[in-house]
Amino acid sequence: MPDHQEISVLDVRFLNISMDQALALLENTITSGRKEAVSFINADCLNISVRDREYRELLNSQSIVLPDGAGIGIACRLMGEKMVANLNGTDLLPPLCELSRGKGYKIFLLGAAEGVGQRMKANLEATYPGLEIVGEQHGYFNHETDTDKVIDSINTLEPNIVLVAFGAPRQEKWIRQHIEKMNANLLLGVGGLFDFYSGDKKRAPLWMRNSGLEWVYRLYLEPGRLWRRYIIGNPMFMYRTLRWIRKQKR
Ligand code: UDP
Repeated sequence: MPDHQEISVLDVRFLNISMDQALALLENTITSGRKEAVSFINADCLNISVRDREYRELLNSQSIVLPDGAGIGIACRLMGEKMVANLNGTDLLPPLCELSRGKGYKIFLLGAAEGVGQRMKANLEATYPGLEIVGEQHGYFNHETDTDKVIDSINTLEPNIVLVAFGAPRQEKWIRQHIEKMNANLLLGVGGLFDFYSGDKKRAPLWMRNSGLEWVYRLYLEPGRLWRRYIIGNPMFMYRTLRWIRKQKR
């Protein structure tokens, strides 16, 4: 197992590792037959975690929490650390698919609106011939009454990896609540990722992603839904981080 450097921002711990180390960690979980919940945290997630103690505690109880986005990178710099890699789910999925088709790991897609998972499956299987996406289920089933039925049908298909896309923190809480009943090794909470890989939503151009401006593009596409998250959330995150760092130094 690689050497892990952990960093804490706003009292949430995450792994500061490279993409290769993250993939090795995920693969090791599968080959050793363990079961892990995997979360990705961005500035919005950390803003939520300040108010939502259950979410904060469950993140801190997980051994694989990965940093997602420019905001976390800036927070690291403010603490005198360097974020080794932006390990958001959307960038991690292609190498995970590559790994999975090589090793025969099976993937299940759980979440997003009806039809999105089917389109994503078709796209991924065309891009990665031989990859086994063994099934998909949209995310708008009745979570109160139908979860056990959904889990049974997922288990029957024996995936190694389940991608759960209900948005944060709903997906993390769902995984936490049901992980014992699920047989897959990896349960990844991936937010809006299915909407990109299905082709339903366009991802920001590479230059914007590389400049830490992906959020600007997302805001441009969905201003009504996302203005609060970014226009209010980003400065709020910086303010909270600066205040938190000052408190740590006292
Ligand atoms: N979603 C779902 N079930 C729900 C609520 C949301 O499957 O009950 C899906 C929604 O269709 C979308 C994803 O969860 O695909 C959330 O996307 P968002 O961009 O809000 O997530 P983030 O990446 O910001 O966590």
